Amino acid sequence: MKINHLGIATKGIDEALDFWEEALGLKNVHTEIVEDQKVKVAMLPIGETRIELLEPISDDSPISKFLEKRGGGIHHIAIEVENIHECLEKLKQKGVRLIDEQPRIGADDCLIAFVHPHSTNGVLLELVQTKK
Ligand code: ZN
Repeated sequence: MKINHLGIATKGIDEALDFWEEALGLKNVHTEIVEDQKVKVAMLPIGETRIELLEPISDDSPISKFLEKRGGGIHHIAIEVENIHECLEKLKQKGVRLIDEQPRIGADDCLIAFVHPHSTNGVLLELVQTKK
């Protein structure tokens, strides 16, 4: 397993890139709209992992709710797994509370599923299975 990316919520990706790209020197290699979560996503590789900037594209996006409650900040940590179906099944058997019992399509056409912060010491955890 490894950390696939860190998800950071922001009100505006363009403004956020002033820091991550212009000041820090990371490169935004991929921008896309993920309709399912009503977010615009920017991916900036850093070592083996990536920073994922998340900007809501609608008021009912989960990221809008997060920004309202807490302002910008770390929204989730994403762990890469070999087989997301097996991983979800195992977690379910252990009584872990899942937000997604079935994987859905995330950024970059990966399969993703979220684990509830209730079971992870308050961290929203995303499981990612990359396309082979
Ligand atoms: Zn993510």
